[in-house]
Amino acid sequence: MNQPDAVVVGSGPNGLAAALTMARAGLRVQVFEGASVPGGGCRTAELTLPGFAHDVCSAVHPLALASPFFASLDLAAHGVRLLTPKVAVAHPLDGGRAGAVSGSVTETAGRLGADATAYQRLMEPLVRDAEPIVAMTLAPLRAVPDRPVAAARFGLQGLAPATVLARRLHTPEGRALLAGAASHSMRPLSAPLTGAFGLTFLMLAHTTGWPVVEGGSARLIAALAAEVTALGGEIVTDTWVERLDQLPAARAVLLDVTPRQLLTMAGGRLPAGYRRAMRRFRYGPGVCKVDWALDGPVPWHNEACREAGTVHVCGTLAEVAQCEADVSAGRHPDRPFCLIAQPCVVDPSRAPAGRHTLWGYCHVPAGSDVDMSERIEAQIERFAPGFRDRILARSVRTATDFERYNPSYVGGDIAAGAATLRQTIGRPVLRWNQYRTPLPGVYLCSGSTPPGGGVHGMCGLWAARTALRDLHIEVAPDDGPQVSVPWPGAG
Ligand SMILES: Cc1cc2nc3c(=O)[nH]c(=O)nc-3n(C[C@H](O)[C@H](O)[C@H](O)COP(=O)(O)OP(=O)(O)OC[C@H]3O[C@@H](n4cnc5c(N)ncnc54)[C@H](O)[C@@H]3O)c2cc1C
Repeated sequence: MNQPDAVVVGSGPNGLAAALTMARAGLRVQVFEGASVPGGGCRTAELTLPGFAHDVCSAVHPLALASPFFASLDLAAHGVRLLTPKVAVAHPLDGGRAGAVSGSVTETAGRLGADATAYQRLMEPLVRDAEPIVAMTLAPLRAVPDRPVAAARFGLQGLAPATVLARRLHTPEGRALLAGAASHSMRPLSAPLTGAFGLTFLMLAHTTGWPVVEGGSARLIAALAAEVTALGGEIVTDTWVERLDQLPAARAVLLDVTPRQLLTMAGGRLPAGYRRAMRRFRYGPGVCKVDWALDGPVPWHNEACREAGTVHVCGTLAEVAQCEADVSAGRHPDRPFCLIAQPCVVDPSRAPAGRHTLWGYCHVPAGSDVDMSERIEAQIERFAPGFRDRILARSVRTATDFERYNPSYVGGDIAAGAATLRQTIGRPVLRWNQYRTPLPGVYLCSGSTPPGGGVHGMCGLWAARTALRDLHIEVAPDDGPQVSVPWPGAG
């Protein structure tokens, strides 16, 4: 493309969201992607055997369903279907018991015995106010919330560590459910804000559900890429951008990369103060992931686990908390906390008839090259005796493999930066607008900016809106962000 108006580096969900937002504003957009296929953390591939489609990174998409950016796309017109498992998440315990979140708060509470009332008290106000809460969590912190009282109530509760919030629940099932959801923060559960992760993911389980994409997450990217190219944009693959000065001249440059990469790409062009601040940016722990081809479903002991799209495998809150504390202290847990997704529960197209794919990872210290597959399989076997006999093939990626696969996963950190309190207030640095860099016309649009990791495209949308405003291009009001949370589970 001769003389693009806007250049985007990186074609992850945020890079493509930025590209599409710029293209919708009438700009000629060129995207440079280092890998041979677009998509970043949203790709699908036959990692094990022919006919088995595995999500290489993201698999479960409550954030995409809640995202105003994705709501601005007619996904159905692109043939993309989000399939919502009946049980969003289950959390097995020894002895065949399990906590499970499905449908409404009342339905879930009904299975929590002595915790029924406490769970309702905790979750009902949040589910009632889900729209303003989702809008707030997917926006930069400086945005004024639509419903300040609901936002403040969520903010105050969410500031608490998950271990403190869990005191409101008493059964092992209720406490384990909260611990599992909070562990998506990849932080020790005694850290502030881990409560917010737990509450947000449980709230989404009751509103959007925790869906998977029929056929695989890559279909979300195919839809995004089709929209970008339909508006005249171009996506150039197999092109790693080492330095900003190798890019064509453009009115705006949006970078779907993390602070460490920006420092390298900018050379000495960034002011010393900003460089120092970017060097202080903290990355989180890594993950070790396993994809399995199975000759049937996982033989979970507990029935709810068999219907769940996601299963959190570790045991009690105390066990989950110990694992996350170990990882943060640089230790590999013997019995790790494992996040398991079983897309075939709702999507048989992922594998040949009767066969299943299984997706799972555990947290590990940053930069780890330890293969955790045996420990992960032992944890699954603990709650699903006979699991190992179902394995046809497996593919393993350590944390260092992830960084080699995508340089945005520094040390294997899949969230492009730790979810600390400081980095929630200032991500990647403390400034009024965190997308703008000190280089005129250069913006960050990755998960290292608000609202952080996950497939929602909102970092890209907000960064592109900043760039458009700087170019004095009016941002159409229907460009979002407007939140309208669907309520499949709330009936
Ligand atoms: C194992 C795993 C499981 C996950 N599970 C989920 C999940 O279930 N649900 C969810 O919502 N999220 C999940 N995530 C997180 C999610 O994938 C990321 O938060 C999301 O993809 C971030 O989007 P992004 O566009 O900011 O960056 P990325 O998706 O990381 O994309 C960045 C892109 O930029 C390219 N790039 C980087 N540097 C350069 C360069 N110098 N030149 C050219 N190209 C470059 C990379 O190749 C990549 O394609 C998971 C991630 C992993 C790894």
